[in-house]
Amino acid sequence: MNAPVAPVASVLESEEHQALRSAVAALGRRYGRDYMTRVVREEGHPEELWAEAAKLGYLGVNLPEEYGGGGGGIYELSLVLEELGASGAPLLMLVVSPAICGTVISRFGTPEQKAAWLPGLADGSRTMAFGITEPDAGSNSHRITTTARRDPDSGDWILSGRKVFVSGVDIADATLIVGRTEDARTGSLKPCLFIVPRDAEGFGRRQIDMELQAPEKQFELTLDDVRLPAEALVGDEDAGLLQLFAGLNPERVMTAAFAIGMGRFALGKAVAYAKERSVWKAPIGAHQAIAHPLAQAHIELETARLMMQKAAHLYDAGDDIGAGEAANMAKYAAAEACVKAVDQAVHTLGGNGLTREFGLASLITASRVARIAPVSREMILNYVSHQTLGLPKSY
Ligand SMILES: Cc1cc2nc3c(=O)[nH]c(=O)nc-3n(C[C@H](O)[C@H](O)[C@H](O)COP(=O)(O)OP(=O)(O)OC[C@H]3O[C@@H](n4cnc5c(N)ncnc54)[C@H](O)[C@@H]3O)c2cc1C
Repeated sequence: MNAPVAPVASVLESEEHQALRSAVAALGRRYGRDYMTRVVREEGHPEELWAEAAKLGYLGVNLPEEYGGGGGGIYELSLVLEELGASGAPLLMLVVSPAICGTVISRFGTPEQKAAWLPGLADGSRTMAFGITEPDAGSNSHRITTTARRDPDSGDWILSGRKVFVSGVDIADATLIVGRTEDARTGSLKPCLFIVPRDAEGFGRRQIDMELQAPEKQFELTLDDVRLPAEALVGDEDAGLLQLFAGLNPERVMTAAFAIGMGRFALGKAVAYAKERSVWKAPIGAHQAIAHPLAQAHIELETARLMMQKAAHLYDAGDDIGAGEAANMAKYAAAEACVKAVDQAVHTLGGNGLTREFGLASLITASRVARIAPVSREMILNYVSHQTLGLPKSY
């Protein structure tokens, strides 16, 4: 009765993709929302689901085959996250570990970094978090102050700074930290990326008390003269934004997948309920005041998926510029569709929408995540205003 609303199988998606979609959906159904709720209640991590998804090759589906990955792209990985989310059991770490960190290391890492990290990220035995947000920078990444200076004698990097809201640092083997070098300490961001092991000296973390019912926790990080070997730097210290966006565009596509999955899950619950619940002559789903917003939610989720697929195709085809605009739009559309779908789902269930038993109320908070992170709704509207429409900037 609670089957999530399935996407329309179509010529837009190859047989392989449709087969992957239904296989992941079958895995998701075996775990589902009850499993995730139990994991959260027990303050654990979805280890069983993570391990099984890894064994089936889903976690590293986007990573190169020579390092144990599936040889696919962000299209395939976003499909995995969407389907797990649609079953009520999303794995948020897919957004950071294989999508951002795996992609950046695959594209810009040294052969040693690839050999050290990609096999583990691909088979799920290792995970990597990603830290860019800072307390005094927030949406304005150009203002980040985490600084890396070079020890002239050893060639080591020494990192100092603070990060906030970084997900999964407690379970990740390392965090990919975005900083800037001393030479590029001011002005427009010229980012450089460092792999910081979880137990590095001077790398502190404090869990932030979030009103979110999810197994992945958020952390404030302090980097207090963290000494890293020269080979901790991923890519070129002068490569700048290109290298960073190689990770941020997949993150946006994956956040869209996360949102579409959640929206489909909530919509599926609401549709099933609206077919069964009768308080007059006909089920409540016969009232257009209930049916139309649900139909609208379905249309908006489907439309957002099309934009997500466009962004993933462009990214996987190597069009970083085209993918940037599409990934922003996809993230925007998916987050808005998700927030509306969850809101309408809760409303459709009446009082039951707020019970623990039906498990929808906590999604009201969770659905806001995609509107805020990794880049807020307003910053995407700014991007489209300035970059796409050429309108002047107010800030
Ligand atoms: C659950 C969760 C997980 C996260 N995980 C990670 C992670 O793993 N790694 C990481 O680095 N970060 C992570 N983040 C951080 C996230 O990316 C930031 O919260 C986000 O970028 C917004 O920054 P901020 O919270 O500082 O908000 P602010 O930048 O302070 O913005 C506050 C409000 O002001 C608006 N605003 C700001 N500037 C403008 C403007 N110029 N025009 C119009 N409106 C504006 C914003 O849209 C927003 O509504 C996570 C956040 C959450 C909630």
